[in-house]
Amino acid sequence: PLPVRNPDCIFCKIIDGVLPCHKVYEDDETLAFMDIFPLSPGHTLVIPKEHHPDLYAMPDHLTAAVMRTTRRVALAMAQAIGPDGMNLFQANGPAAGQTVYHFHMHILPRRLGDGVIS
Ligand code: 5GP
Ligand code: ZN
Repeated sequence: PLPVRNPDCIFCKIIDGVLPCHKVYEDDETLAFMDIFPLSPGHTLVIPKEHHPDLYAMPDHLTAAVMRTTRRVALAMAQAIGPDGMNLFQANGPAAGQTVYHFHMHILPRRLGDGVIS
């Protein structure tokens, strides 16, 4: 079957190698790469290798695969840079601040008092 893609989607272009990224991890279903405008050092995004606009559209098996990759990458990032804490988050819709409509998890390493998000 053809992969699920949106030709106008920047993350689909990253998956297909049309746009570059700093790859952190990948497997058959998911890709993790550095955020281009990091909110803190180590800010990483995890995406499914299929185009689904938001959480509501995600199939269960890919939701699980993205969460598994998120945990693995968060653990590796924690071991690599030793943050004081870490936030995982994702946005759905403009009111939540979503800007890229290809589902993605944020991995955000934190330092005490950094104030990058509340
Ligand atoms: P959202 O606000 O939709 O939750 O997050 C989108 C994220 O994607 C932002 O943190 C933004 O910096 C990141 N981003 C947008 N365009 C690109 C890109 O071309 N490459 C990478 N690596 N990150 C991007
Ligand atoms: Zn996409």
